Amino acid sequence: MISQIHIQKCVNSRAKDLDFDNIPLGKTFTDHMFLCSYESGQWQSPKIVPLAAIPTHPAAMAFHYGQAIFEGMKATVDSNDTPMLFRPEANAKRLNFSARRLGMPEFPESLFVEALRTLVSLDRQWIPSQKGSALYLRPFMYADEAFIGMRAATRYKFIVMASPSNPIYNKRIRLYAETNYIRAAQGGTGEAKAAGNYAAAILPTEAAKAKGYDQVLWLDAQNFKAIQEVGTMNIFFKINGTIITPALDGAILAGITRMSTIELLRHKGFEVVERRLTIDEVIEASAKGHLEEAFGTGTAVGVAMIQDIGYESQIIHISNNNPVGQMVLETLNGIRTGKIPDDFNWMYTVEV
Ligand SMILES: *Cc1c(COP(=O)(O)O)cnc(C)c1O
Repeated sequence: MISQIHIQKCVNSRAKDLDFDNIPLGKTFTDHMFLCSYESGQWQSPKIVPLAAIPTHPAAMAFHYGQAIFEGMKATVDSNDTPMLFRPEANAKRLNFSARRLGMPEFPESLFVEALRTLVSLDRQWIPSQKGSALYLRPFMYADEAFIGMRAATRYKFIVMASPSNPIYNKRIRLYAETNYIRAAQGGTGEAKAAGNYAAAILPTEAAKAKGYDQVLWLDAQNFKAIQEVGTMNIFFKINGTIITPALDGAILAGITRMSTIELLRHKGFEVVERRLTIDEVIEASAKGHLEEAFGTGTAVGVAMIQDIGYESQIIHISNNNPVGQMVLETLNGIRTGKIPDDFNWMYTVEV
């Protein structure tokens, strides 16, 4: 189908009112959004319009049956102010993976990339150039057919919004290993970036925060032993010189930052192993003094260094130094801002 994206520009940009050093997190949105509707078995004409509320019928199926998926990615600028996207085709593919799992229509991958390119080009004055800052992009799709009844919807919307952000964590974070609730089980929707996964995580996450932790560390659904991941991050440990990250087991979200971190570390000569890793093994490594580092990876945070992990009545301390995590963070940020050569061909330049 690929059709030309129809563009309706806003009259006055709000970008000049923003203090780029103090961006209110998650509630600042750019001037425009990309919008495409699905009906009669196909995606209709794509458009970019001024960001605005969308009237939604109370019977819209996403509210009742949860057909809602999303993506998260970032646009950055290099020293010439040229906007760039990080591996956008990977997000396009993962959106469609999620769409298939939730019984939703796939969105054409070339149009996904074109939508981001066009939106970022139009809203480029919103891309922060401060260190670690970026324009966060939120593509998402939901069922907006008005219907009461359990079946796949026949009408959907695919939208991309953009929200400038400063770095989220500037501190080492504390994780709480959850032993009552689970995030995902094999055969469920944990591998998909489905909105409902986060709904299930809210109660345990709020409880962990009330105990003084930043995020939940999820364990497997069968035994609460194998480490899965964290909130919206995948997790890496350095134990006795080897980098270990849980293998994608059907219940873990395949992060694009995770994949990039593995490629980068191997390229730098580190031994990286993807395998089952239990909390007991981490406790034992810590007791022996072999637990050298732990960090989380994800688009929103980049790389977040982990200070300790609460598990049952104990606290697993991790060494205070994170040379590997720090190197990954600085290399990814450097590649994203053109300061480090993009040897992996990850960056996608947006012509303006
Ligand atoms: C989005 C997400 C990640 C990280 O994925 P990236 O592609 O690296 O941003 C990890 N875990 C969960 C549960 C997520 O939703």
